[in-house]
Amino acid sequence: MSDNNQSNKNSNQDPKQPNFNFKNNRFALFLIIGLLGLSIALFMPTAENFGQEIPYSQFLSYLDEGIVTQVKIVDYSLIQGQLSRGTADGGAFTTRIPYTDSGLVQLLMDNDVRFSGETSPTSPLMIILNFLPITLGLVFIWILFRQVQGGGNKAFSFGKSKAKRYADQGEKKITFADVAGQHEAKYELEEVVEFLKNPGRFTKMGAKIPKGVLLVGMPGTGKTLLAKATAGEAGVPFFHMSGSDFVEMFVGVGASRVRDLFEQGRKNSPCIIFIDELDAVGRTRGAGYGGGHDEREQTLNQMLVEMDGFDTKDGVIIIAATNRPDVLDPALLRPGRFDRQVVVDMPDMKEREAILRIHAAKIPMGTEVDLTRIARATPGASGADIANLVNEAALYAARKNKENVETEDFEEARDKMLMGVARLSKVISEKDKLATAYHEAGHALLHYYLKDVDPLHKVSVVPRGRALGVAISLPDEDKYSRNKGWLHDRIVIAYGGYVAEQLVYGETTTGTQNDLKQATEMARRMVCEWGMSDLGPVSFGAEDEPIFLGKEIATHKDYSEETAKKIDNEIRKILDDCLERAYSVLREQREKLEVLAQALVNKETLSDDEVRLVLGLAKAGA
Ligand code: ADP
Ligand code: ZN
Ligand code: MG
Repeated sequence: MSDNNQSNKNSNQDPKQPNFNFKNNRFALFLIIGLLGLSIALFMPTAENFGQEIPYSQFLSYLDEGIVTQVKIVDYSLIQGQLSRGTADGGAFTTRIPYTDSGLVQLLMDNDVRFSGETSPTSPLMIILNFLPITLGLVFIWILFRQVQGGGNKAFSFGKSKAKRYADQGEKKITFADVAGQHEAKYELEEVVEFLKNPGRFTKMGAKIPKGVLLVGMPGTGKTLLAKATAGEAGVPFFHMSGSDFVEMFVGVGASRVRDLFEQGRKNSPCIIFIDELDAVGRTRGAGYGGGHDEREQTLNQMLVEMDGFDTKDGVIIIAATNRPDVLDPALLRPGRFDRQVVVDMPDMKEREAILRIHAAKIPMGTEVDLTRIARATPGASGADIANLVNEAALYAARKNKENVETEDFEEARDKMLMGVARLSKVISEKDKLATAYHEAGHALLHYYLKDVDPLHKVSVVPRGRALGVAISLPDEDKYSRNKGWLHDRIVIAYGGYVAEQLVYGETTTGTQNDLKQATEMARRMVCEWGMSDLGPVSFGAEDEPIFLGKEIATHKDYSEETAKKIDNEIRKILDDCLERAYSVLREQREKLEVLAQALVNKETLSDDEVRLVLGLAKAGA
């Protein structure tokens, strides 16, 4: 099942803001000093703030009256004078000369006024202010220049890593106890904790410790939480930075931030460096359209260089998180880099309950609230969704002035979550869950009633990636080539979801898209590549897959229209035959389909053994 639109954006922000550190933010400091200077300059008393400003005509009439005792002519344009009597400022006044008054001197002399000329004093601040635009421009060019040269990690904060540090003291330590479920992930990270607690012991034994651990999982599954908990368990500092922080406008900034981040790590070892959204920098190089990715590639290269330059005995472990491991540059996954991958799964019903318990413990709960039921009623919710749900419920209760959070608050919160306009999470309704269960049961059931198939590994209605559920089969042993019978049965199984939906609802959903695509692709390759049709052992349509072109353009057609028709016919024949077989098996096992779907609704995930138990079949291998 596939294709339920969903956003890859993580909707949860880290609630804790780091302490704002001026040392890391020299740019801000400069800015503040600049502003301060500017305001001082603006409010400084200047030559113009002298006495009361009066019109020039008024000044002339004062002269006439003979009450002006002395004047100072500033810059040939401004007159500051003193009257023998009058005005609020003890006789001080200012006036502007509106034009070049050639008669002024004569007039002053006639009236016996003492006068002198002066140019206004220029404060050093004024000089700086005058040159400020030019200075700023020069500084900016200098920064750019240094950045381009790649040596700019000291220029203001552009090249600084901005890493947020969560120290071991201060805020409450997060440990593995704060992470519900995720046993496998915790198990893997346990080793990292042991190492960080006592790096010496491990290196003495010559044991190989992973330098980088990659946490792979959908948004909200608790990757960040796990990384923090690892630091908390080990009692070491934790440096947190997001991949998108590295990607900036200026070329070279990202690379220099990477350098800075790793330097901080080295200085503070043992510690954990956590890089969230690794895919933002770690995308495969050279796959961008039309260039423009130099900055990102440079950042990625720097990251690779830094990781290689690290020695495990430095006591720094790098943990990264992504929900798109498929787009990562393979170089990142090579030994000595992120060579350890840890899958962080969406929680199933039991795990959802455990997460509920952790978060419910932080709020006053009514005694009647049944967390098991709430867990059951929130299929598809991630850890973050659950945390959110508890928070919302508490808000509803608070709004109603209640002492405790009650069932109805949870219900209200859940409804809101289900109906949210901008539905970021993929919480599924009861009805959709049942439909998914039928679909996946259709796939799963066929594994037990076809001949040439691999055994079922597990079937699940817990969403994963873009799929609403999965039915996974696992071969008994590694197989590199497959025969026609196996391929046919694969196509039949691919049709299982579609057919189950048809049988139960009389119509199908968009969730069948991927299945149909898979089936068609397999049939096409049987005919065109593997010679498994009546057209015989011929290969049609040589394929090459450059990165830049779509597949349609890249496949070059080396056969006639007539052959194309024949190929289509053969593909059709295979598909029709497989679809028919899927129908016949599932019609025959209609009751079992019902039973299995119900079991899936209740348990969400079933292993091979569990399916056999539900269906009343013999155990595998028996
Ligand atoms: P991710 O980094 O995978 O997107 P986060 O670690 O940011 O997810 O998880 C967001 C929040 O969801 C966490 O802060 C926590 O409150 C909650 N959460 C997620 N998974 C769990 C879990 N397994 N146990 C407890 N809380 C969880
Ligand atoms: Zn399917
Ligand atoms: Mg996260």
